[in-house]
Amino acid sequence: MNYYSLNHKAPNTTFKNAVIKGIAPDKGLYFPETITALPKSFFDSIDNLSHSEIAFEAIKQFVSPEIPEEILKTIVEETLSFDFPVVKLNKNISTLELFHGPTMAFKDVGARFMARCLGYFNQNNDREVTVLVATSGDTGGAVANGFLGVKGVNVVILYPSGKVSDIQEMQLTTLGQNIKALEVHGTFDDCQDMVKTAFLDEALTSQMQLTSANSINVARWLPQLFYFMFAYKQLHKQHKDIVFSVPSGNFGNICAGMMAQQLGLPIKHFVASNNANNVVTRYLISQLYEPKPSIQTISNAMDVGAPSNFIRIQEIYKNNFDALKSNLTSYSYSDKETKEAMLEMYKNYNYVADPHGAVGYLGCKDYLKEKPNAHCVFLETAHPTKFLDVVEEVVQVKQALPSQIQSVMGKEKESTIISTYDDLKAFLLKK
Ligand SMILES: *Cc1c(COP(=O)(O)O)cnc(C)c1O
Repeated sequence: MNYYSLNHKAPNTTFKNAVIKGIAPDKGLYFPETITALPKSFFDSIDNLSHSEIAFEAIKQFVSPEIPEEILKTIVEETLSFDFPVVKLNKNISTLELFHGPTMAFKDVGARFMARCLGYFNQNNDREVTVLVATSGDTGGAVANGFLGVKGVNVVILYPSGKVSDIQEMQLTTLGQNIKALEVHGTFDDCQDMVKTAFLDEALTSQMQLTSANSINVARWLPQLFYFMFAYKQLHKQHKDIVFSVPSGNFGNICAGMMAQQLGLPIKHFVASNNANNVVTRYLISQLYEPKPSIQTISNAMDVGAPSNFIRIQEIYKNNFDALKSNLTSYSYSDKETKEAMLEMYKNYNYVADPHGAVGYLGCKDYLKEKPNAHCVFLETAHPTKFLDVVEEVVQVKQALPSQIQSVMGKEKESTIISTYDDLKAFLLKK
C-alpha cells in the first residue's frame, strides 16, 4: 500500500517509509491511497476467526507487500496476546475493555504493532532510529513498554510535568535501557508542538533518523481498527444497531473505528465523547473548527486542544460536513459529570470505570436518548487503577492493584526537565 500526505505537497510513499518517517516532509499526515472493503463472507464468518486471524485480514492491505504475510502473522499474534472482553452493563450499554495489555491502556496494541514493524524494517539497518513521542499520559508508557530493548531504536518521550497520573509517570520514567523521558514545563500541546518542530528541523533530521510513535504514525494508528471488529464479533448475534462511543483526545482511536467501517464492518454510528476539550463537539454544531489551548481534566489522556487525527476523519468523509455529521455525534462533559458517571456505574452495575471510560459511558447515555433502540458500546480505554486517586475518591473503595501496575510501583524515576524546543534539540544532539 502506498500513502499520500494530507497536505498534498509531498510524494506518495510506501508503508515502510511512512512508518519510518512518521510524518510527511510537507508536515502532512499519511493516509492510505485506497481502502478496499473486506468481503461480506469475512463478517459473516467472523465467529469462526480468532483475534489474530481477524487482525491479519483487516491490516494486510495496509502493510503489504513490505511485510511478508508470514511475518505479519507473527506480528499480530505477538501484538494481541491478551484479552479484549465486552462487558454488558444493561440491555443497551456495553463496554469494550481495552486495558488488559502490559501498560493497561488501549495504546498497547498500536505501540506493540508499531514496535514490531519498525524492528522488522530495521533489522538489517545499522542506522539507529530515534522514536520521538509526546504523551498526554498513556502513550508514553505503552511506547516505552512496546519498544523496550528493540534493537537499533532509541525512544525519547515528552510528557507535561505534573499533568499525568503518578502511575502513568512511573510507567514511562522507570524502564531505563533505550527509553528516555523528558519532563516538559508546559501542556501536552506544547509537547506535541516540540515533536512536530523536531521533525521539520533539518539541523536535526540530517544528523539522525527521527520517527514518531503518536497516532500520527500509521503503524500506531491503523491497528486500533481491530478493537471494533473484536467488539462486533462478541455482540453481533444479539444486537443489530451497534454504536461506538469513543472517549477521544487526538481522535486516533475513533478514526481507526471509521476505517473499520470503511472496511465493511457494520457500525451504525459513532459518538465522540469529549471532556472539556471539545473542539469537535463545537465543530459539529457550528461548522467552525477552532482549536484551543488544552484544559487540564481528570481524563488527562484526552486533554488535547488540537486533535491531530481530525484531518484524517475529514478525509474519510471527503470533507463533506453532512456526510460526517450523519455518522458522528459528539458530546462534551465536565469533570463533575464524569465523577457522577463513575459513581452511577459503580452503584448501578457494580462496575468501576476509569474517568475516560466514564466520559464514554455518558456519551452512550446521551446518544440513547435520541436512538433508544441502539446498542451502545463505550470503549474502556484504561484500567481504573491508572487513575487511583480519582477512582478511590469517587467510589470510596480501595482498589486492588493488578500485577502490571504493581510492577512499576516504587521504581526509581529518571527524567530530564526541559522548557523549550532548544532544550529538546540540545538533548537529542548530545546523545
Ligand atoms: C489516548 C487515550 C484516549 C484518547 O485516544 P485518542 O486516540 O487520542 O482519541 C482516551 N483514553 C485513554 C485512557 C487514552 O490513553
